[in-house]
Amino acid sequence: MVIHEYAGIVTELEDHKCPHCGTLMSPWLPPPETGWDVILICESNNCSFYLGSEEDIAHKREGSHLGCRFALNPQNGYKPVNVLAVCPH
Ligand SMILES: [Zn+2]
Repeated sequence: MVIHEYAGIVTELEDHKCPHCGTLMSPWLPPPETGWDVILICESNNCSFYLGSEEDIAHKREGSHLGCRFALNPQNGYKPVNVLAVCPH
């Protein structure tokens, strides 16, 4: 179990490993405009999902350096969601 605390609100989340790279996923509070509560996200820069998504998007929008990280939404029965993130390279 992982525990996320923000502004006095404690959220307990199940342990989940990323199915693409096996990294233990971390709790993350998305920007308010997403309307999501705390989600679990794969933070690995070597994740095949993340690296693959970067290539997909690069073909559509050159030089944007955006990629999708694999994430799970606990409010939605831990269903996978895509989180757009800026690539570090
Ligand atoms: Zn991963």
